[in-house]
Amino acid sequence: MSKHTISRVQHELVRREITVSQAEWVTPRMRRLTFQDDSLRGFQSPAFDDHVKLFFTPDCNRDFTPRRFDGENGILTLDFALHPGGVASEWAENAAVGDTLQIGGPRGSTVVAEDFDWYWLIGDETALPAIGRRLEEATEGTLFRTFVLVEGLKNRQMIETRATWRANWIFRSEGESLLDAVRRPPLPAGDGLVWLAGEHGLVRGLRHHFVEERNHPEEWVRASSYWRLPE
Ligand SMILES: Cc1cc2nc3c(=O)[nH]c(=O)nc-3n(C[C@H](O)[C@H](O)[C@H](O)COP(=O)(O)OP(=O)(O)OC[C@H]3O[C@@H](n4cnc5c(N)ncnc54)[C@H](O)[C@@H]3O)c2cc1C
Repeated sequence: MSKHTISRVQHELVRREITVSQAEWVTPRMRRLTFQDDSLRGFQSPAFDDHVKLFFTPDCNRDFTPRRFDGENGILTLDFALHPGGVASEWAENAAVGDTLQIGGPRGSTVVAEDFDWYWLIGDETALPAIGRRLEEATEGTLFRTFVLVEGLKNRQMIETRATWRANWIFRSEGESLLDAVRRPPLPAGDGLVWLAGEHGLVRGLRHHFVEERNHPEEWVRASSYWRLPE
């Protein structure tokens, strides 16, 4: 059996209208919406960093991570990192039970094997839904370290996991730097998967650090830009 397989799975693209069944606050700027709907029959999300497209008008869509999916009961959970001036953010902040949303996808999933010696998951608030899901789905004893940039102490999240998890929270309000936090500790021994997501410039700097400065194998550094600060 080959080691550390990273495979791409395609799905039939389906558009659905789903209905909010629960709305809650995870932390002061993270809104969790749960959707229970018959139209979620057949929905598939095998990878923790899958994304669905949320359609607010026919030409305005945004990507979000299925934070949790319960296929048996057709329940999908999405977490929204709230921020000023965003269509998706504003919708999520005001969403109430009974509101509907058009979604499409996931179109495809990248499934990473669970056979790495360790996993580092790094990003800002927008990466937290994927990071939380990965931790919740991890098998017992798998070694995880996370570095997450959030506004402050109140924005940390409790996440249940069977994995061996070390969490580093980095606070924007304290002037802390995610890149500095990541730079300090040595990488664990063995083969490791580094997963990066968040603001474009932040992710670019982090990727450069792992690939160019630490010489971590490029195929084991998975980096995605989730949003961009205005120029
Ligand atoms: C694959 C993928 C998965 C994603 N999963 C999630 C997820 O599960 N949860 C989640 O919250 N986000 C997620 N994102 C990020 C999300 O799609 C973007 O943040 C998106 O721009 C939000 O749309 P909006 O309509 O609220 O803001 P927009 O209308 O796109 O942007 C308005 C303004 O806000 C700024 N902005 C956008 N996002 C942020 C932010 N987070 N913080 C501060 N300023 C911001 C923009 O620079 C712009 O100036 C994901 C992105 C990708 C590509």
